[in-house]
Amino acid sequence: MRALPSWPGRRISPRRALALSLGAALLTACASGGARPSVGPTPEAAAATDTGYLRSRGLMIPVLGVTLDRLSDTFYDRRGEERIHRAIDILAPKGTPVLAADNGTIVRVSSNSLGGLTIYAIDPLRRLVYYYAHLDRYDVIAYKGKVVAKGDVIGYVGTTGNARGGPPHLHFQVMRYRDERRYWDGEPIDPFPYFATTGQDR
Ligand SMILES: [Zn+2]
Repeated sequence: MRALPSWPGRRISPRRALALSLGAALLTACASGGARPSVGPTPEAAAATDTGYLRSRGLMIPVLGVTLDRLSDTFYDRRGEERIHRAIDILAPKGTPVLAADNGTIVRVSSNSLGGLTIYAIDPLRRLVYYYAHLDRYDVIAYKGKVVAKGDVIGYVGTTGNARGGPPHLHFQVMRYRDERRYWDGEPIDPFPYFATTGQDR
């Protein structure tokens, strides 16, 4: 004979046991689906945290010799009919060293039609992605997986991609890191208020 399920301290009938276990199952289903109260940060709070984190990185202006007073905020500039720039353009003579704005790791070195020669890097906690574009050429240390320190020379200012024919500059973008497969597609953050130091070679 099978033992009846027991509740602590007392025996119960099989029917009662079934009702109790169904009730427990329903409670579990409610807890795991639908309208449970949100426990994560709101999007606004998450954004505030990201900018707070960006500030804490103490970003270097990623072009050698460029000082804060020579920089202007081109993040919200219109580019064409629909597009907002959502990056910073840093003007400098062709061949000026491009520096890592932060410590981290290079995750991609590649060219595309808009950006020309580009580098993607991420910060040590994998919360931010740094995109460097229109490079004239790469430095030898610019390869996937390379750990870089703030101020390392990773490339040189140029006019590749859709900057061809215009003034040489670095197109620098900061994005929130999304995930491994779509790191290049995170929401951009205006880095302009968060640059802490002049571009200096290490
Ligand atoms: Zn640009």
